[in-house]
Amino acid sequence: MIVIHAPASIRHEPTGYFRRGQTIPHPEQAERYRILRGAAEGAGHALAEAADHGIEPLRAVHTDSYLDLLRTAWGRKDELPGIGEEILTGHFARPQMQARPEGLLGLLGYHMADTSTPIRAGTWEAIHGSAQAAVTAADAVLEHGAAYALCRPPGHHAYADSAGGFCFLNNTAIAAERLLAKTGGPIAILDIDVHHGNGTQGIFYGRGDVLTVSVHADPANYFPFYAGYASETGEGAGEGANLNLPLAHGSGDDAWLGTIAEGLHRIAAFRPAALVVALGFDASEHDPIGALKVTTVGFRAAARAIAAAHATVLLVQEGGYLCDALPQNLVAFLVAFEAARRGYARRRPPGWLRGR
Ligand SMILES: [Zn+2]
Repeated sequence: MIVIHAPASIRHEPTGYFRRGQTIPHPEQAERYRILRGAAEGAGHALAEAADHGIEPLRAVHTDSYLDLLRTAWGRKDELPGIGEEILTGHFARPQMQARPEGLLGLLGYHMADTSTPIRAGTWEAIHGSAQAAVTAADAVLEHGAAYALCRPPGHHAYADSAGGFCFLNNTAIAAERLLAKTGGPIAILDIDVHHGNGTQGIFYGRGDVLTVSVHADPANYFPFYAGYASETGEGAGEGANLNLPLAHGSGDDAWLGTIAEGLHRIAAFRPAALVVALGFDASEHDPIGALKVTTVGFRAAARAIAAAHATVLLVQEGGYLCDALPQNLVAFLVAFEAARRGYARRRPPGWLRGR
């Protein structure tokens, strides 16, 4: 498996995170990058650094004003007397408050959903690098049929103009746009992170050229709370091109895999030119902030099902937090995915692995 990564990923190092009434160590640590990279390398996969494709692939998804803010915020820190090692606000615009203020704290609250996305000295370099890994891996997929983008920080909670849920730039959506532009589409996204891919849904909600499918823990009492319900099916040209498959908390392998199969069935009917998988490992039974009970055996089975679903598959790293199972599940997934691809390639006509 080709693994595309960005060493700049480690430059965003948030420390504390306010969760359930107390400040805990931030779950989305730079250490995740080192562990995932080390696991992939140790399992013998070919690692390659992301190329810098510049700002244009990011502009295909995000607004200029939002990108400008992310890029310039740390340089404006002296506007905030007494600021520490990170810029973070606790004030957020409600839907009925429409003004976009000039001041830095107000701007951050306008473009953020919560307190999980502080901006620090290296944040822009890290999120830019993570997005470039997605773009580079999308290009690699068109050449090789499959690739894994080791994106950190993750992206699927980021909307076109807002951060939240540890995410700033929507790497999965950026990769999907890249594949759409290069193949003519349509493109399907399958999100198997334990949290609903609300940002990705929001970005493509009114469009019919990208199908978004998300398998996740029921958001009725779980992040992202305000999206992720089965009733959300898309709007306008996108009506019918969004499928949410929420699962009861505590669900294990059987329910999770059955629901993924349902999502893949919908994707097959859509006949996409490529499949992008938002690959979170926080559905694991051992994840520190997870809500499902998926085992390593379950991740292997999911990998086989996804490998069988399409000839052109891009895996984009999303969530999955520090525990011994995190690197184990990545390695198990990649090994099973590659083995299944080789098996299907043998049974299918020549050219299958190059796309359809
Ligand atoms: Zn997640």
